[in-house]
Amino acid sequence: EEVVAVDNAARKGCDGVLEVPSRLLMGPGPANAYPRILTAQALPLLGHMHPPFLKIMDELSEGLRYTFQTKSKYTLMVSGTGHAGMEAAIANLVEPGDKVLVGNAGIWGERVGILSRRYNADVIELKTPAGTTFSYETLKAALTQHKPKVLFLCQGESSTGTHQSLAGLGEVCRQTGTLLLVDTVCSLGGVPLFADQWGVDCIYSGSQKCLSGPPGASPFFMSERAMEALQKRKSPPATYNLDMNLIGDYWGWFGKRSYHHTGPVSTFYAMREALAIVSEEGLEKLWQRHQDMHHRLWDGLRSMGLKPFVEKDEDRLITVNTIKVPEGVDWAAVVKHAMDTYSLEIAGGLGPTAGKVWRVGIMGFNAKPQNVDLVLTAFQDGLKRQGKL
Ligand code: PMP
Repeated sequence: EEVVAVDNAARKGCDGVLEVPSRLLMGPGPANAYPRILTAQALPLLGHMHPPFLKIMDELSEGLRYTFQTKSKYTLMVSGTGHAGMEAAIANLVEPGDKVLVGNAGIWGERVGILSRRYNADVIELKTPAGTTFSYETLKAALTQHKPKVLFLCQGESSTGTHQSLAGLGEVCRQTGTLLLVDTVCSLGGVPLFADQWGVDCIYSGSQKCLSGPPGASPFFMSERAMEALQKRKSPPATYNLDMNLIGDYWGWFGKRSYHHTGPVSTFYAMREALAIVSEEGLEKLWQRHQDMHHRLWDGLRSMGLKPFVEKDEDRLITVNTIKVPEGVDWAAVVKHAMDTYSLEIAGGLGPTAGKVWRVGIMGFNAKPQNVDLVLTAFQDGLKRQGKL
């Protein structure tokens, strides 16, 4: 037998105790986590099928019912980031050849279109210019014309800073036999959402934005109608990893528990703590806090002469704010100065807004006056250094 010597070339890749800098994350996400949430991740591991862990999963499902405002049995955390929730939604709701009407108001709509095509959907894309949202009339007309299987909308489009209203759409979707799918990655916990009352059929979200958890769990919801559609599929979803029948069976949706994958135990502890914080504060107060901090930010920005990228007040997302870069200002220098001086993250644009805006996230744990004030100080300094204030 040949003896192979260990190659030590990469041995020092992970050397010593990990240290990371402390940063205030006021970009589009992740936001900083509550210290309590980080502490929860250090609790001892349990087995992923142990009764005390299954109880935590039950508590998560119930906590999500509160957060989504639903009585549906079908809530859980998909193991993975927002993209895992996005892919789970499309892969399970859409069968090859189904029509998917995708509201594309920025990169998230665009991405759902790309993803849906990979699952062989017949994608009909509705586009709206960056910084605007779809009107009820536009969506109603498109729904009536196409009668799609799924309508996708992004409630909080973080690439442009818009807030898509969902008012009245659940009812139209019921008339056209359409499932209403909504991305709430940047909005859940930050702005009102009433899944049942608004007739939403499927929602995915993120853990690391307004819920202030670590990335890695995607809050997920399906209505009874969505579940019926899943049960009626002619063939199982093309993804095994994100098959909601199998994941649901791990979470006890069908009255038993079967192993599908190993739940990310520590991440679920963190989210159990995150949802406890949501329930302690209460949704009304949580939404109000986000609203108040958004106003505080804009009072300060406007006093420096800065303007919102999103023209209409009612279209503006309060959790991820897009700020127009004035003529002749080096946006990247302002971002760099904030990081170098204050360890403060603010971001530039993304997709259609690249080079045109700054993005400031005010989410969850970070939505408090001293953080907003530091962002304002960073903008003030950054503009002054360029002689623009
Ligand atoms: N949708 C929206 C609106 C987002 O802002 C993001 C993340 N920035 C995602 C989806 C994707 O989430 P993740 O990066 O957690 O996969």
